[in-house]
Amino acid sequence: MPYCPNCKYEYKDNIEECPDCGAKLVDKLEGETFENIKYVPFRSLPSRLYAEMLKEALENEGIPSIIKGDDVGITYGSYGTTSAVEVSIWVPEEDLERAEQIADQMLDHI
Ligand SMILES: [Zn+2]
Repeated sequence: MPYCPNCKYEYKDNIEECPDCGAKLVDKLEGETFENIKYVPFRSLPSRLYAEMLKEALENEGIPSIIKGDDVGITYGSYGTTSAVEVSIWVPEEDLERAEQIADQMLDHI
């Protein structure tokens, strides 16, 4: 799936340029370098709500993150049903350790 490096949106296969900013779309960035940052899979969460909460907590600490899965048209694995789709959150490899600490603290309080 093509992906806009500026807007960070994913588009349909037949689209080559971003309708928003006109940038050339690139291939989706699974495990690849993005803006010179290497993202790695961090946690799988049971719902997008948890993922959003974790993303916010990480951003408060200055760690960027990417949410994959659920309702944004990016599916991460198939679990045989249409309703139970896990959401995964990716963080820069260099921030992984710090992200772990933040996630541990945050998930304790849920
Ligand atoms: Zn764009």
